[in-house]
Amino acid sequence: MRHRNVRILATLGPSSDDLAAALALHEAGADAFRLNMSHSDHADLKRRVEMIRELERQTGRPIAILVDLQGPKLRIGKMAGDGADLTNGTTFILDMDDAPGTDKRAPLPHKEIFEVAEPGHSLLLDDGKIRLRVEDVSDSKLTTTVMAGGHLTSRKGVNIPDARLPIPALTTKDRSDLEAALNLNVDWIALSFVQSAQDVAEAKKIARGRAAVMAKMEKPSAIDDLDAILDIADGLMVARGDLGVECPVETVPGLQKRLTRAARRAGKPVVVATQMLESMIENPVPTRAEVSDVATAVFEGADAVMLSAESAAGKYPVEAVAVMNRIAESIETDPNYAQIINAQRSEPEPTGPDALSNAARTVAETLNAAAIVCYTTSGSTGLRAARERSRVPVMVLTPHLPTARRLSLVWGLNCVLTDDAANLDDMVDRAGRLAFREGMARVGDRIVIMAGVPLGTPGATNMLRVAFVADSAANHPN
Ligand code: PGA
Ligand code: MN
Repeated sequence: MRHRNVRILATLGPSSDDLAAALALHEAGADAFRLNMSHSDHADLKRRVEMIRELERQTGRPIAILVDLQGPKLRIGKMAGDGADLTNGTTFILDMDDAPGTDKRAPLPHKEIFEVAEPGHSLLLDDGKIRLRVEDVSDSKLTTTVMAGGHLTSRKGVNIPDARLPIPALTTKDRSDLEAALNLNVDWIALSFVQSAQDVAEAKKIARGRAAVMAKMEKPSAIDDLDAILDIADGLMVARGDLGVECPVETVPGLQKRLTRAARRAGKPVVVATQMLESMIENPVPTRAEVSDVATAVFEGADAVMLSAESAAGKYPVEAVAVMNRIAESIETDPNYAQIINAQRSEPEPTGPDALSNAARTVAETLNAAAIVCYTTSGSTGLRAARERSRVPVMVLTPHLPTARRLSLVWGLNCVLTDDAANLDDMVDRAGRLAFREGMARVGDRIVIMAGVPLGTPGATNMLRVAFVADSAANHPN
C-alpha cells in the first residue's frame, strides 16, 4: 500500500518501454500508466497493455491503464526547406493550397477553421510560440498579421481558442484507437480537445461502460460547459499544456483550482497534468518552482498528478516518479495539509452512499480507527468514500477487477480484489484479515466497514459497522 493519498499517473514511452522499466516506475511510485496515442500505433498499444497487465500480475496490485486519444489536433502542412521566419507586423496567409509554406504563407489543411474564423481572432502556432491575428477570412484563405513572430517549421500545431470548431472530438483515428483500446480492456479513455458535453457523450456511447471516460479540459469552450461535462464524464484532466495555449497562461492556475474543486464536489477523479517536472526531462533534479507546482496539486486534493515526457521520453523517468512520490509524501504529512484539504470538502448529497461515507469518515476519525473498509462492486460507493478525503486510510474491497483497476487512479483508495462476503461474519472477518494483510491495521485495531445488505447487491450501501481486527486475522492463510 502507498503511504500517500494522491496517485501518480506516469506516461509510458521510449524511455520506459519494457517490463523492467515499467516495474521500476511502479516501485518508484507510479500507480497508473498513460499511453499516448499521439505517439503510438496499435502494435505499441497492445504491447504496452500486455506489459502493464504482466506488471500487475507480478506485483499483485491493480493498475489503471489510461489511453489518451489524440483528438482533433490541428496542424499546418509542410513548410519549404527547414521552415521560415515570420516577422512581427507582416502579413501571413493560411490557405488550402498544399504547396510548401514560406515566410508569406503556409498550407492549413483544415477547412473547418475557414468556416468559423473571424477577423480579430487569434491563431496560435507551435504551442503558442507564434501568434497571428486574423484580419480577413474567405472559404479557403485566412489573411493574418503576425503579432508574435518566430521560426515556423512543418506540421506545427495550430490552436484557435476564440472559435468553437464544427468538428467532433473523435477523429477517424480516434475512433479506430478507441476501438483498439476497448478491445484490450483498458480502464480509462482520455478525450483530447473536448469542446462540449456532447463530445463526452459520444465517447461514452461507444465505450458502453467498458472503460471510464476522462474529459481533458484544454479548451475555453469546455470550461464554459464544465457543469454539463462533469455530469457526464467519469473524470477530468487539467490538461495544462494546451489549456495554457488556448487561455492566457496566467489564468491556468486559477482554472486548475476551479476544475479540481468542481471535480471534487462532483466526486469524480481529477488529474493535474503537464510540465509538472518538465526540467527533469533533461536533469536528475527538479526546479524549486516545479516542486512547488506538484505540491499545489497535492494541497488541492487532486486525485492524481501526471508525468508526460518526463517518464515517457526523458533521461530520468524513474527519478521523476521518485521525486513526485517524495513531494506527495512530504506534503501529505505537512501540518497544514489536513486543514487545507478539509477546507474544500463538499457536503454529502442526500443519498445512502454519501450519508454512509460521511458517517464512516467521522466515526473512523473520532475513534482513530486504523482503516475504513469499503465494499463496492461498481466502484461508485468507493468514489463517494474518496470524496470525503478522509484522514483515515480507505481500503476498497471489490470482486470486480475492472473496478479495482479504475479506482487505482482515485485519491486515497487502496483497492484489493476479493470475493463478495458470504455473510455478515465473513464480511467483518474478511475486512479485518485483508486490512491486516495489507499492513493497514494490526490485531486489536478498530476498523470501520461500509457495505450493502443484502451483500453483493450493487448500489445498496446501507450499513456501517465498527469492528476490531481479531487475533484470527493474523493467522489466516490469506
Ligand atoms: P497532451 O495533453 O499532452 O496530449 O497535449 C495534455 C495537455 O495538453 O496538457
Ligand atoms: Mn493537450
